[in-house]
Amino acid sequence: MPLKRRYLMAFAAAIAWLLGSVPAMAEPPPMQDFRAFIASLWPDAKAAGVSRKTFDAAFAGVKPDYTIPDLDLPGRPKVDNTGQAEFTKTAADYLSKPYLEKLAVQGRQFLADHKAALERIEGLTGVDRYTLVAIWGRETAYGSYHPPNDAIQMLATLAFVGKRKDRFHDELIAALVMLQQGVPRLDMKSSWAGAVGLTQAMPTEYLKFAIDGDGDGKIDIWRSVADALAFTARQLEAKGWVRGARWGYEVIAPTHADCSLEGPPDARPIGDWVKMGFKKAGGRPFTKAELSSDAYLMMPAGAYGPAFLAAQNFRVIRLYNTSDLYALFVGNLGDRICGGGDFATPWKSFSQPKTRTVAGIQSRLQQLGFPMDKIDGKIGSNTRKQIGLYEKSNGLPIDCWPSERVLAHAESQAARR
Ligand code: CA
Repeated sequence: MPLKRRYLMAFAAAIAWLLGSVPAMAEPPPMQDFRAFIASLWPDAKAAGVSRKTFDAAFAGVKPDYTIPDLDLPGRPKVDNTGQAEFTKTAADYLSKPYLEKLAVQGRQFLADHKAALERIEGLTGVDRYTLVAIWGRETAYGSYHPPNDAIQMLATLAFVGKRKDRFHDELIAALVMLQQGVPRLDMKSSWAGAVGLTQAMPTEYLKFAIDGDGDGKIDIWRSVADALAFTARQLEAKGWVRGARWGYEVIAPTHADCSLEGPPDARPIGDWVKMGFKKAGGRPFTKAELSSDAYLMMPAGAYGPAFLAAQNFRVIRLYNTSDLYALFVGNLGDRICGGGDFATPWKSFSQPKTRTVAGIQSRLQQLGFPMDKIDGKIGSNTRKQIGLYEKSNGLPIDCWPSERVLAHAESQAARR
């Protein structure tokens, strides 16, 4: 190939990459490969107690869906999380006040409707009724949202060509066991990630924790609120829920404090935070028991929104769904259902940074010696913290927030090396 032409092609590829329109380098795998993959699952399914009849019926007519996120396909960007509102919406949009208020009003009604069941579940697991109703509200808007996808199709696609094949292989086998146990095939409806039921849980969790919460002799996490919430409570209990404790607290940060103190590694007793000048926002002051319990600082919008001290139960909600905004939504909705209110510090509105910007900052900072857990384009505690530390060490304004400005600065610093 003439040098000039080769140069032009490289240039065109670079432009395509910059525009995010990388042409697919290859077609997705042919159908026969998918069929062979499904056939290869049989020994594991059989070992888990699935009959041949259940296995064949489960996959009848199932084709892979290559349009869902989180797939490892040729031509797909390495970092994409387009499918999760937790990572694509700003805190202000995700924690929308009118939406939270609407769910809180409905939640108080459901709290009354299911009072006896909720009291029983609370007594059994220690998980409070407000958190349980809030999770139900967050996950399916109290059952009014019906996930549109076929869970078997989603899980099979993710186990076949997903980025986390092993995990979804186990979820797929667990889903087959659910069918074997008598769950109707039509109940296996899910989001793209394969979660099912009123509280959107994964099949492996169902097998471990689902119980008959209303005592009618059946487990039905699709139609029985008591069954679904008892199941959720048992999941939270197993993840380390502390009975009688809160998820966390909104705090007012002192003016001299900075957001780079954020994150689980800097957890300390709430009393220490108070000594550092952090104050509880609104309501009564911290109790003695609260002052001695551990919490970490969490500022999901960096310097552009409220600050929180996240306690153990916040970590537990995060284990249910790994996102700061999700856990905060559930915590705040629970508070509102309980009669509590709005955030004391408002969220500033700004546009959400592009995944590519976040991933670019993560990889530059890693190159510059800042410890990054992952280059995933998601704005977690550690990403915000490391940005804050980078800003601090470079004399930049400290906002702990991924921006084009930080990316450009980090790129120029990395280029000097
Ligand atoms: Ca039941």
